[in-house]
Amino acid sequence: MAAPLKPSVTLDELSFDNSYTRELPGDPLSSNRRRQVSQVCYSRVRPRAVTAPCLLAYSAEAASLLDLGLESCRSPRFTEIFSGNLLLPGMDPHAMCYGGHQFGQWAGQLGDGRAINLGEVINRQGERWALQLKGAGATPYSRTADGLAVLRSSLREFLCSEAMYQLGIPTTRALSLVTTGELVDRDMFYDGNIREEPGAVVCRLAPSFLRFGNFQIHSVRGETAVLGSLADYTLKTFFPHLGTPSPRAYTELFKEICSQTLSMIIHWLRVGFVHGVMNTDNMSILGLTIDYGPYGWLEGYDPTWTPNTTDRHGRRYCFGNQARVALWNLSQLANALYPLIGEVDPLQEILEQSVARMEQQHLHMQAKKLGLRHFDPKEDPELIDALLELLQLTETDMTIFYRKLAELKLEPFLQAGPSSSSATLPPAERYPFYPAYYTPEQIPPGYWQQLELWLRQYARRLAGEGRNHQERRAAMNRVNPKYVLRNYLAQLAIDGAEAGDPCLIAELLQLLRSPYDEQPEQEQYAGKRPEWARHRPGCSMLSCSS
Ligand code: AMP
Ligand code: MG
Repeated sequence: MAAPLKPSVTLDELSFDNSYTRELPGDPLSSNRRRQVSQVCYSRVRPRAVTAPCLLAYSAEAASLLDLGLESCRSPRFTEIFSGNLLLPGMDPHAMCYGGHQFGQWAGQLGDGRAINLGEVINRQGERWALQLKGAGATPYSRTADGLAVLRSSLREFLCSEAMYQLGIPTTRALSLVTTGELVDRDMFYDGNIREEPGAVVCRLAPSFLRFGNFQIHSVRGETAVLGSLADYTLKTFFPHLGTPSPRAYTELFKEICSQTLSMIIHWLRVGFVHGVMNTDNMSILGLTIDYGPYGWLEGYDPTWTPNTTDRHGRRYCFGNQARVALWNLSQLANALYPLIGEVDPLQEILEQSVARMEQQHLHMQAKKLGLRHFDPKEDPELIDALLELLQLTETDMTIFYRKLAELKLEPFLQAGPSSSSATLPPAERYPFYPAYYTPEQIPPGYWQQLELWLRQYARRLAGEGRNHQERRAAMNRVNPKYVLRNYLAQLAIDGAEAGDPCLIAELLQLLRSPYDEQPEQEQYAGKRPEWARHRPGCSMLSCSS
């Protein structure tokens, strides 16, 4: 008999074990004055009180990681705590010190400028979950900014964190979304148009929020003892299987971070996610998707696409560059760890292996998206490349295309000659993925022929594997989501919430709980981006201002 479910814990019963502040050196100053903070890993800082906190949404799944039940989430105390108004005994609020390469340039000290870690909860399974408020006020790391966050970006972070989790993608989690009742000035496109926006706070959860930049800052400053303490802490707390600290264990640590980072990127490429700001301060040491800012989801398949207007010229962080950039970021992490290892060759070797593994894993992932049981190194790279080329010949919605490709019956494409049963049908009836085309009237000459050739090649390749139609469709639908947080859907939820109606947040949260299921009653959320959203700010254009 299954063990009876234990009742939930209450907010006051949360059990804190603040390993980060206990085991690592902290800032001796407690003032919030903005400054350079050296030789330490964090500064203690209290969240700022807010006047009228209001809970807009919470994630029951994230709450369950803390063993919190629904009554706790719905209690006024929950809103007080996760807006920053109330600290629980056992919390030890602090901001982390880190640096980072921003758009390829070393930017010096950054740090948690508007994120405040409340403490680490150990749940009943013995898991460690750090709680972090984003938008809860200034810290010594706030530089020239205000330490706050606005509703639109907080809502985007809240929904996307939980959507990514449900897609099976490593990510930080989001527990709650609270508006503060206060207004925040924001210049959304840095063009002098300042608007007052509603302020908000998200509570995020992760085993740790450590970033590549936490290691870089101490390395660049020559603070090797602090760097060593941080690496030892990371090994002991999050990678205990790698053994006790030694140059060898640090090398293994780097190898594992490479592998987890690659796996995260392959997931992003699978579902069409563009992070938007892959600076080294936004790269998690645990391979989690972190810091949801100007991210976006590919609609038309275009590897050069990025939603981030701040990056519109260089497109450094566009969809198709993400693997390359992750490897560049990993090489910066290797530089940061070098003082602890003292040898270049092992790090170089791991980086080279990572390049090769990234290519291999990418091909395997693409083969899975096509419903292939096994990857064939002789035939499949060409099959995959040919499709990715086709997808760019006319604006083709990536999510819809793969999902509908699973429905295509392939037998007709195995027959020789153009006289097969359905060959005479117009494309709109012949191809279930026809709704993926944004401008079918502009499809270039020769496209249909090229598609036909590809489908024949695909059908032949699949026939060799002996997977029947149902099996192929089921396998494809497990890796090709039907529902993703399309940019315009997030924007509709923002429009509603800003106008006082937050109900679309809960609706989307519910929809995205089962992104691979059909959910026929929710078909309207699976369609193409509507034309009004093509150029609308927030839907196709975002900036780092949040
Ligand atoms: P991001 O672009 O969000 O990754 O942020 C880069 C750096 O700027 C980090 O150190 C953030 O903590 C900091 N930052 C971003 N927005 C704010 C803000 N409104 N107030 C203070 N610091 C901020
Ligand atoms: Mg960041």
